Amino acid sequence: MNKGTVFIISGPSGSGKDTILKEVLKKRTDIYFSISSITRDMREGEVEGEKYHFISRKEFEEGLANEAFLEYNKYLENYYGTPKAPIEENLALGNDVLIECDVNGAAKKKKKMPEVVSVFIMPPSFEVLKKRLSGRGTESAEQIEGRLNAALNEIARANEYDYIVVNDALETAVSDFLLVMKSQRFKLNNQKQLINEVLKNA
Ligand code: 5GP
Repeated sequence: MNKGTVFIISGPSGSGKDTILKEVLKKRTDIYFSISSITRDMREGEVEGEKYHFISRKEFEEGLANEAFLEYNKYLENYYGTPKAPIEENLALGNDVLIECDVNGAAKKKKKMPEVVSVFIMPPSFEVLKKRLSGRGTESAEQIEGRLNAALNEIARANEYDYIVVNDALETAVSDFLLVMKSQRFKLNNQKQLINEVLKNA
């Protein structure tokens, strides 16, 4: 059996990353979606074990001491970490793993595991991004400007990624993302075990 692949998905606010992620997980139910362990309080509508495991600071610090995280970050006085064990278990079973994170988290993970495949979700143009960010009508011009600037800063780092998927039409972006995932299976590195097995049983 061949080992699974770790995929990272990132994208700025307005890229449609979360919708793409949801659709991809619906279509690829065999994928393990990495759930971060975090120490901040649960927000309304959040469910334990859906996107995050809500743990105590003490538990997190124990995890740090035991090197239980692939990487972690301290954000607004709270810890956020990517648990290592479920990722390693799933990869060993041949399952692909999907991790959602921002550009800084992606850079840290890529440094630790150079074999990860990173995908950046891009808006098709600046105009479309601007329209999407101002389309909700619930935020002030200043807030929109802030989100637009943050998005541009992330897009400026898109060249650190292996693949760029443009989200113009959602359906196309979802199938493009699935194609990137599928194509990894045919890489020599992911087929070496099979080659060896065929030769061994000859
Ligand atoms: P929030 O509190 O709004 O859910 O997340 C705050 C920030 O933490 C977001 O930028 C989110 O992407 C990031 N984050 C979530 N999980 C992890 C993780 O496991 N590692 C790192 N480095 N950042 C994370």
